[in-house]
Amino acid sequence: MKSYDVVIVGGGVIGSSIAYHLAQQNLRIALIDKGEIGREASAAAAGLLGVQAEWTSDDPFFEIAQRSRKLFPQLAETIRHMTGIDIGYEQKGIYRVAFNEAEMANIITIKEWQSAYGERFDMLNTRQLLQREKQLNTSLIGGVFCQDDGHVLAPKLTQGLALAASYLQVEIIEYCEVLSILKKERQVTAIHTTLGNIETSHVVIASGAFSNQLLRDFKIDVFPVKGEVIQLYSNEPMITAPIFNERFYIAPKRGGHYILGSTMLENDYSKDVTAGGIQQILQHAFALIPRLEKATFKNHWSGLRPHCTNNQPFIDEHPSIKGLYAAIGHYRNGILLSAVTGELIAHKIKEARENEVNG
Ligand code: FAD
Repeated sequence: MKSYDVVIVGGGVIGSSIAYHLAQQNLRIALIDKGEIGREASAAAAGLLGVQAEWTSDDPFFEIAQRSRKLFPQLAETIRHMTGIDIGYEQKGIYRVAFNEAEMANIITIKEWQSAYGERFDMLNTRQLLQREKQLNTSLIGGVFCQDDGHVLAPKLTQGLALAASYLQVEIIEYCEVLSILKKERQVTAIHTTLGNIETSHVVIASGAFSNQLLRDFKIDVFPVKGEVIQLYSNEPMITAPIFNERFYIAPKRGGHYILGSTMLENDYSKDVTAGGIQQILQHAFALIPRLEKATFKNHWSGLRPHCTNNQPFIDEHPSIKGLYAAIGHYRNGILLSAVTGELIAHKIKEARENEVNG
């Protein structure tokens, strides 16, 4: 029977980041996916590192998200140095814009509480917005420029983390579905998979929206929130930084590409992209940048955001089963939170192993 110190179930951005961060600890680690690494939600994401843009109310994950965003410049550099993969990290800010007074009031409230955490904003009226971004709709009444947010190329991030992990001796096992976790006296002993049993004393469940079967011991429920996305191309410049309005966004990527998203369809496990979804996204996009009507339609896709019923990710060890961990439910912010999640789980496993050694 194969044997590892740690097995990570799920090779999305979360599992790959955990594998990369754990790999520094000189352990025998396997990263297992039922398909190919990085082909689910993590490949569908727009890659926004949107602490300022995404957090509409104060919660414990706000500071964790700030910490994660800070890790990206170094992470991008390390991945490039180790693997040659450029994750497309850019810290050029994100705009949150408003079409009416209610949206503007909401933006101001968010700006006020986030400023207390040190986040930096430029308040902009219509004239100032249009001075910076000439293609924006003139009927916008204003907005804020969130200076500290940024973005990456999400598929490259997962690819880079997984490759860096494999260079650090993590074994990557694809097309292997983990069916159950085996325990003896409340201690993890092995996993049961479609390729047979694998012995291990530590399992991290990072299997995204597909996790309920493996999460029974945690009493956490995860469900998918499907998001559809469109990619356009334009050979004239449209915007220099992502634009956010009421959860819809346009993210400029290198080479004249624009990612437009995204719908929010709860409990939809299909990967279909509907005509209605495309219409909804384009309507929002054209309202923000009318000139985008001239852009070329390049691609569309969808992904399933893993969402916990209590609205927060779970990144921790099981309270009473030794060796069982979960990093799950990162919902709209798994790309942003991937760096800190990898760090947190690696730290917890390190501590647990040190405690085992010291009795
Ligand atoms: P996944 O990427 O879904 O990976 C889970 C993996 O586990 C899969 O590869 C799957 O095959 C594997 N797996 C499942 N079950 C098993 C099993 N039993 N055995 C073995 N393997 C298994 N986040 C941001 O921070 N910024 C954004 O701009 C952003 N935009 C998004 C846009 C869209 C349209 C979507 C859908 C998501 C977006 N997100 C964004 C959210 C982000 O993509 C997710 O939170 C993140 O990718 C979740 O990563 P994950 O590794 O948990 O899940």
